[in-house]
Amino acid sequence: MKKHRYQKLLEQIVNSEAKQVGDFHATAKMSTELLFEQLEVSRVVISGLSELTNTLETVYTEPAIALNVALQFRPQPLACPIFVEELRVNRHVASDHCVEDCRLIELNGYYQQHDVKAALEVAIRINGHLEGVLSLERHTGTPAWQDSEIQLASQVADQLALTLATQYSYDKDERLKLFLSATEQSDQIMMVVNLSSACIEYVNHAHFELTHIPKDQIIGRPVQALDFFKQFPQKAESVLAKARAGESSEEEMKLVRRDGSDYWVRLSVKRFISERGNHFALINADNCTEQHLHQSELERLAWRCTLTGLYNRTHFSCVLDKAKEGHLVLIDLRGFKRFNDTYGHANGDLMLIEVARRIRHFADINHITEIARIGSDEFAVLIADSCDVNVINALIERLYRQVELPVSIGTEQIEPKPALASVDIASIEQLFPALTCADIALQYAKNKQGDAIQVFNSALLNAFKEDAQIERDLAVAIKGRQFELYYQPLKDLQKQTYIGAEALIRWHHPKKGVLYPGAFIDIAEQTGLITDIGAWVLEAACKQLNLWQHRQIDISMHVNVSARQFFSGTLFEQVWELIGRYKLTPQSLILEITETELMEDIRLATNLCNELAELGVGLAIDDFGTGYSSMRYLKQFPISKLKIDRSFISDLSVSHESREIVSAIIAMASALNISLTAEGVETKEQELFLAEHHCHQAQGFLYSPALRVSEFGDFLAKSTLVH
Ligand code: C2E
Ligand code: CA
Ligand code: CA
Repeated sequence: MKKHRYQKLLEQIVNSEAKQVGDFHATAKMSTELLFEQLEVSRVVISGLSELTNTLETVYTEPAIALNVALQFRPQPLACPIFVEELRVNRHVASDHCVEDCRLIELNGYYQQHDVKAALEVAIRINGHLEGVLSLERHTGTPAWQDSEIQLASQVADQLALTLATQYSYDKDERLKLFLSATEQSDQIMMVVNLSSACIEYVNHAHFELTHIPKDQIIGRPVQALDFFKQFPQKAESVLAKARAGESSEEEMKLVRRDGSDYWVRLSVKRFISERGNHFALINADNCTEQHLHQSELERLAWRCTLTGLYNRTHFSCVLDKAKEGHLVLIDLRGFKRFNDTYGHANGDLMLIEVARRIRHFADINHITEIARIGSDEFAVLIADSCDVNVINALIERLYRQVELPVSIGTEQIEPKPALASVDIASIEQLFPALTCADIALQYAKNKQGDAIQVFNSALLNAFKEDAQIERDLAVAIKGRQFELYYQPLKDLQKQTYIGAEALIRWHHPKKGVLYPGAFIDIAEQTGLITDIGAWVLEAACKQLNLWQHRQIDISMHVNVSARQFFSGTLFEQVWELIGRYKLTPQSLILEITETELMEDIRLATNLCNELAELGVGLAIDDFGTGYSSMRYLKQFPISKLKIDRSFISDLSVSHESREIVSAIIAMASALNISLTAEGVETKEQELFLAEHHCHQAQGFLYSPALRVSEFGDFLAKSTLVH
């Protein structure tokens, strides 16, 4: 009868859905309830062994223990090694006097608290591994545990073990599926390669997304079928070899798809060994195309000139800083600013783009990579090879010839007029920055006649240092009253009298003695000191003119004005104020400026010339014939005088061409009703030629060099005596 009941109980558990689907909790609940019902026990407890904490956690008790008496739960198995070992070996402990039972001594406290006299403890085991305990408790020691009860409890424990095993295998399966779908969902490419067969065992969906190659063309195929292997065979072999040796590696590369489009991947390769001891490589790869595009766009913005696409100054300076040898070449476009102003910025841009194209073409042919636009009209090339001087010179000349070719802008052909400088980087031995040296050479190149090419050398450096010294000395020269005006007489060739004086500055340098303007005017102009010097000259000349006018000496005063001074914006006020202060006849003051300087800003120059002409002050074009000598512009300005440059005069006796030019200038001046002075007259023959051609005035060493003011007075007095 009892046997029959027990059999039914067991069948109920075996056939229960909870047991079949591996629901341990539900099976435990059902088992405790049934056992409590069928057996004469005070409590049934099922505890599970937690893997994480290694504790026996009560899964179910019948009747239930309130949660707040959790402390009264069974102790941890760690605390009861004897008990656990007993269960492991003998499967169950059946005790009718459990408090005195040495096998259960560790549970004594629990038994006492729960007033347990007899206990049947049965192991729930899978493959000999303890997974939990089924405990039957009684408050009395009688009746003693019967074999049928022990057998039933053991069979129930087996069913519980089976339920757990089913749950574990379901869990494992579920977990595998979970992992698989997680890797399939991942945006990162995951690939498993069998290291002994070099075949691809697995690849996730992300691989298709990136490469557009279907999975079935990859899985089971040798790694050599991958883009990475086809396009970087050596790199791929080395990555595989490293993986076999247990080393991890990371690579980043650009790959090309079958349709020709490209993409960037960053991959990391790591070896792992499966439980069965097989070696695999886990390859993780990311699509980093966006990042690369973004980065190259950032680099382009940070390192490139947006107009020409060449590198910019920042990038070039970084490269140059690291260069220990090779040649730095600078290319500057002379007169670009004027071109830009005259033809407009759009055309200026076209010119720069074309010049950049030529330089890039030159660089491509000669395998030069570092070319940059480092200023508005300044380009730089770094020739990395430190080759022979002759080779370099030939290269530089070729570059010069290419850049100097006319550029078609609209319907016009414009010559870019390059100036080119080069520096042998090794030769300056880190003493001076290469760019500084190249800049120095470039200044020389710009002022050269013919090909404007200058190779940097130590003489240039010395001259540069000298100039730097001059610049420092100039700063104190005005306050130190170190300047003096000398005066060179101008002779009227018809009347044979002196009608004017040109004020020429001299500098009594405290160490160097008397310095001529050639030694310092350009420096003063470049540094801006010319504004103060020019103002001083103008004032000194006007003061002197006033003294002469007081003494009834009727001569005009010619004052040289530099471009910077001319365009300073204050020249008109200065002149106006001086004429008032020294009560000068405005016509007796003549400002001299060169054509080239005048052309720097035609609109501004026209306005200023008109204002000065209205005031009555004369304007002379200095060094006429050396610049544009354009009739169109001459007519535009209210010019009162031309001064023929002395190079034509000195050539008169030897050059037929010079004679022609001088005659033409004389004819032109007379047609325009402009007064004319020939400069640098040194011989009687020159004077004769000029007089015969009706040139109005002459100036030169034939009459007198520039004189100090007292000598000039004597000179005039003597010459009037002569007449
Ligand atoms: P410039 O205006 O053409 O002045 C004439 C120069 O020719 C002067 O040189 C003069 O001494 C020189 N010269 C005159 N007659 C003869 C001659 O027969 N033969 C030769 N070989 N030379 C002759 P200097 O005084 O050395 O002045 C050079 C230049 O410096 C001037 O050329 C002028 O452009 C500039 N300069 C002189 N004084 C001033 C000044 O106060 N302000 C500015 N901005 N520039 C000045
Ligand atoms: Ca002059
Ligand atoms: Ca002159």
